[in-house]
Amino acid sequence: MAYRASEDRYDNMQYRRTGRSGLKLPAISLGLWQNFGGTRDYPSAFKILSYAFDQGVTHFDLANNYGPPPGSSEELFGQMMVRDFAPYRDEMIISSKAGYDMWPGPYGEFGSRKYLIASCDQSLKRCNVDYFDIFYSHRFDPETPLEETMGALASLYHQGKALYVGVSSYPKKETIEASRILNEMGVPLTIHQPSYSILNRWIEDDGTLDTLGELGVGCIAFSPLAQGVLSGKYSKDKATGTRATEPGSSLFGRHLETGVLAAVDALQDLADKRGQTLVQLALAWVLRREEMTSALIGVRTLEQLKDNLGALSNLELSDDELKIIDDAAKG
Ligand code: NDP
Repeated sequence: MAYRASEDRYDNMQYRRTGRSGLKLPAISLGLWQNFGGTRDYPSAFKILSYAFDQGVTHFDLANNYGPPPGSSEELFGQMMVRDFAPYRDEMIISSKAGYDMWPGPYGEFGSRKYLIASCDQSLKRCNVDYFDIFYSHRFDPETPLEETMGALASLYHQGKALYVGVSSYPKKETIEASRILNEMGVPLTIHQPSYSILNRWIEDDGTLDTLGELGVGCIAFSPLAQGVLSGKYSKDKATGTRATEPGSSLFGRHLETGVLAAVDALQDLADKRGQTLVQLALAWVLRREEMTSALIGVRTLEQLKDNLGALSNLELSDDELKIIDDAAKG
C-alpha cells in the first residue's frame, strides 16, 4: 500500500531558521552517511525514514560518497523518492555534497568546477530529484582557488540545481572567504555543516560558530553523538569486548580514550538526574546556542531514532548543568 504521511507530522517538531535565510530546518535532521548503504534492505530503511518524516523530520542529508559502496545511500534514497516520498517532495529538504573521493582520476574529488558540477548531476540522478534543496562543498580544497569552488556552487544555484548552498568542515577563515566570494556572485552562503558535540568543540574553539552568527549563516552539526560514543554504549563497564576498544581501532580514535569514557559516565549521571537519556542530553547541548539550526543525527534502528527525537521534550539546560557538562568534558 502506498505510504501516506501522518496527518499530525508537524505537531511536535520544532523548526529553526537557518541563519538569516528564509529556510527553516527541523531541530533534528537525519543523515544517511552510514547504515543506509548497499546492504540495507528497503523496508527497514523506509521504516526509519518514514517514521522520521511522520515526526516532522523534513530534512534528509546525503552525499555522493555515502554508502558503502559510494553512491548506494543516494540510490536507496532515490528509490524512496520514486516509490513512496514523491508526493511529499515539496515538504522535504534534501541535501547532497561533493568533496571526497568519488571516482578515479584527477576529477573525482576535492573542489574543482569539473568535479562539483559532474558530481551534483550524478547525485541528482541517483536520488531521483530535479534539484537539491542544499548542495555543499564537502571539504575545503587547499589547491583549487576558492573562487572556482564557490563559482561552481553559484552555477548550481543559478541553474536551479541547488536552492541553497553550503560548505562543510570549512575552517573559520575559509568560511568567511567563501561567504564573501559567493556574495559577490549574488549567492548567499546559507549554511555550514561542521562536526560538533560535547566532546568536539572546534567550531567554538576557532570562533567559527560566532562568525556564522555574525555572517547570518546557519549551522547544522554533524556527529552530535560523536558517532555513538555519547549514547554511553561504549562506557567503561560496557565497552569491553567490543571492536571499538581493540588496540588501533579506527572506529572512534581518541573518542574512546579512558578520559573520554569517564566523561561519558559523568554525563550519564547528569542525564539520569534530568530524567532523560544520554543521547537526549547530548542533543540538547548541541542545540543550546541560537546559531545552531539543527542537530544532524545518524541512526541504525528505529528505536535509536525514537530515543533521539525524545530530546525535543527537554532542551533547556541551566548554567549549573552546563558547568557540569564542561567539567566532565574537560576530564
Ligand atoms: P551521530 O553522532 O548521531 O552518530 C550516529 C550513530 O550513533 C548511530 O549510527 C548509532 O551507532 C549511534 N546512535 C545513534 N542514536 C543512538 C541511540 N539512541 N542509542 C545508541 N546509539 C545511538 O552521527 P553520525 O556520525 O552518524 O553523523 C550523522 C550524519 O551527519 C551523517 O549521516 C551525515 O549525514 C552527516 N555527516 C557529515 C559529515 C561531513 O563531512 N559533512 C561527516 C559525518 C557525518 P551504531 O550504528 O553503531 O548503532
